Order: sequence, then C-alpha cells, then structure tokens
Amino acid sequence: MMQETADLIIRAWHIVTMNPARDILLDQAVAVRGRRICAIGAPDDLRRRFPGAREIGGQRFVLAPGMVNTHIHVTGETLFKSFIPDHLGFEEHVFEWLGPLLAARRPGDDRLAARLTAVEMLRSGTTCFLEAGSSQFLDETVDALLETGIRGRVGGWIWDVPDEPAPYRQTTDQAIARLQDQLERYPDRDGGLIAAWAILVGHTTGTEHLWRAATALAMEHAAGFAFHMSPDAIDIRDFDRRYGRRPLERLADIGVMDQRPVVTHLVHASDSEIDILAQSGAHVSHCPTSAMRCGYGVTQIGRFPEMADRRINVTIGTDAANSANHADLMRAAHAVAGLFKDARRDPSIFPAAQVFEMATLGGARALRLDDEIGSIEVGKYADLVLHDTDRPEWRPLLDVVNQLIWSADGRGVHTVLVDGRIVVENGRCVTVDEDALWREAQQAGEALVARFGKPMRDGTRALPPSPNHDWRRT
Ligand SMILES: [Zn+2]
Repeated sequence: MMQETADLIIRAWHIVTMNPARDILLDQAVAVRGRRICAIGAPDDLRRRFPGAREIGGQRFVLAPGMVNTHIHVTGETLFKSFIPDHLGFEEHVFEWLGPLLAARRPGDDRLAARLTAVEMLRSGTTCFLEAGSSQFLDETVDALLETGIRGRVGGWIWDVPDEPAPYRQTTDQAIARLQDQLERYPDRDGGLIAAWAILVGHTTGTEHLWRAATALAMEHAAGFAFHMSPDAIDIRDFDRRYGRRPLERLADIGVMDQRPVVTHLVHASDSEIDILAQSGAHVSHCPTSAMRCGYGVTQIGRFPEMADRRINVTIGTDAANSANHADLMRAAHAVAGLFKDARRDPSIFPAAQVFEMATLGGARALRLDDEIGSIEVGKYADLVLHDTDRPEWRPLLDVVNQLIWSADGRGVHTVLVDGRIVVENGRCVTVDEDALWREAQQAGEALVARFGKPMRDGTRALPPSPNHDWRRT
C-alpha cells in the first residue's frame, strides 16, 4: 500500500470544530495535505499515518476555525485610521472629513492599505472577509491581498448618484461597465482565494437602473451581491420619498433580494423587511462596533435578536477604520454577545456559542463558502487559527467558547493557516515584511493627511478640554 502523506500535523489541547455535532475535541490533532484538512485524530495515530509531516501547535493551544468578517473596508480609510474625530455628526463626518480624505488617495495607497488591513485581520484570527466595495484601485488591491494569503471577496467603488467626491463620480453606464469588468476579470470559481462580487455602495447612492443591472450581472456571473443599507433613518426617508416603500421592500420589488444578498448594517428594519429577509434567504452583516463608534442606536432600534430568531443568517462585520476603527472580529463578536444582553436586560440573548457560530459558519454561509470553510472537518480548506493559552486572559481555561467570546481577543492568536498555508507564525504575519509595512503605512498616512489640508485639530497636539476637566484646577 502507498504511504499516505500530509504536510502538517497540528496538535491542540482543545479543538473547537464547529462540525455538525459542534464537537470540542481534547488532546487531538488535525492533519493538512495541500489546501485541505485530510484527517482528524489522536496525535500518535496521525504521526504513524503521516510520517515526515511537520508538526506544529501543542499542548497549550486552542485550535479553532478561521473567522469570517462579513463587512470590512480593506482600503481607503485604513491609511487615515482613527484620524476623524469621534464626536462629529453624520454629515460633518461624511462630507467634511471622509469624502475629501478618500479623494486624497493616490495610486499605491490601496495596495498598502489592503496589505495592512489583511495583516490586521490575519493576526487576529480572521481568514476570510467580504469587502465593502470601496476599492478605488481594484487591481492593486487584489494583488496585495493575494500576496498576504488571505481569502476574500472584493469590489470596486460602484454608485451613480453622488457627484462628490469628484474622483468617484460615475455615470450609470460607467458604473455598470465597471462592475461587469471586475466580475469578468476576477471570477468567483475554482476555489480562488480572491474574487469579485457585485458590491454596491448602496444606501441612496444608486439609481434603480443600476440596482437592476447589478442584479442581472450578479445572476449572470453567479456572483454574490452585497451593499450597505439603513444604518441611519436617512435611507428609510429617501426610499419612502422616491417610492413610498421601505428600502428592502423596494429592492425586493425589483428582484435584488432574490440574489440572497449580504445586507450591511440594517439597524432600521421593519416587520415587513424582516419577513423579506427570512423569505429570501438574504444575509445580514451586523456591525456592532461601527454602531457604537457612530451612534446608530443599534441597541435601541436594532432587531438583530428577532432576526436570528427568524433563522435569518445574522453575521458579524467590523466596517471601516473610522467607524469601529479596528479589524479584530473577536472584539466585534464580544460586542455582539454583550450589547443586547444589556439593552434588553436579558442574558439569554446571543449566548457565546451562538456568537462564535455567527463569526465562523454564519460568515462562511454568507460568503457561499460553508461547504468549504467555517468549521474543522475533513475535506474542508485548512483555514485554521491556533490561540495561545499561555496568556493571562486565557488562564485558567475552563470553558473554551465562553473564553473565546468573553475573555480573549485577537492578541492571543499565535498561528494562522489559510488554504493550508501558514500566514501567521508566533503572532507575526510571515507573508509580508511587517517592519517595512509599519513604516510605509505611517509615511503614506501622514502624506494623505497633508494632502487633505485641513488644519490639525487641538486633539492632535493636546487633549481637548472635556466637560469634567475642571478637576485640574482644584
Ligand atoms: Zn461599510
């Protein structure tokens, strides 16, 4: 008999499989051959079966599936992360800061931003993502993502209503041509790590003609569909004024919801819109840390527990670098678990096991990859994360899923594999030159802010006065 081979044997103390039985295995190991998991079993058995395989992990590690972030802007804001003050109203944030800063981007910036965001995701245990459709220079974004080794679905900036910022202005025909071009050049097939989806900016930035064309293109290319909607009541008011309908009602009327899209934010959702989500099989990307940063009122008006009760696939996203400001899905998962417990004074809402499922299998389902990733099972791609438990937040380890959601965050991630390839080792991303990345990101960020030209606010030189600053005088 031919000797079976494997490239890697990964040993762990706990393996949180997320398989159909949701087994948590103790003192077991996972073998990887090429891109996929080829066996799960006792370490000694796997060693005998696969002599010569490199062995990683060990007794102090928790092995879990790589997480899936269903809404993140990998370019753009990344290079002015946390620069926009956090006390601004929506219009000042968007029109006076965000728009001009995005317009100040140069070729090369998207490459750098995508690399930085991917490294932040990988180092905190996210192995797959759905982009927000915000790349200005899509080719360099795809190049950079492929270089890091992350898995994801991306899109260029597609809209046809707003005039500003000028570099983003598109006619309807241009927007459709752009979308068609990206779907043709980056098809979602053959297990490719990076592919394009039909992603619209959404909100009120698209004509009905564009929505219909994007729907037809998504269908023709068998591509996924995603867009932003209703973080704020502005979208509700605009759809009502134009069509006398709620946003998802109108999008269902014209066939968009038949594409089972990933709808991002949806802080405002009526009963009829929840019915549409449940009937269409659409997915929701809940971005709790973005709501907290921007003050959307997610705990007052959000209906994510009700959506989950209706078996709507509620998943987790982190959003952009000035709305949430970080890409650590473990921090967002922690917020998902906690916000509604507090708001409704009901600790039974979003228990840790459910939230970890949202961050893994749920995200995989939204990305149409649940047969391939999201759990640790033989035959699936080896998208895996080793959490190091020799850390204060991990000890004592008594309930591993509670610990993942409530105690740990991305800092404890030690080793990450995507598609069978080791991309993070001992906490460092090994597919890029990290030291060069920190330097280049700093230079590019400072140059971008200089082109923006707005005078620095007090807060960049000294802390601004706060309402309770008077204690300094007493
Ligand atoms: Zn977004």
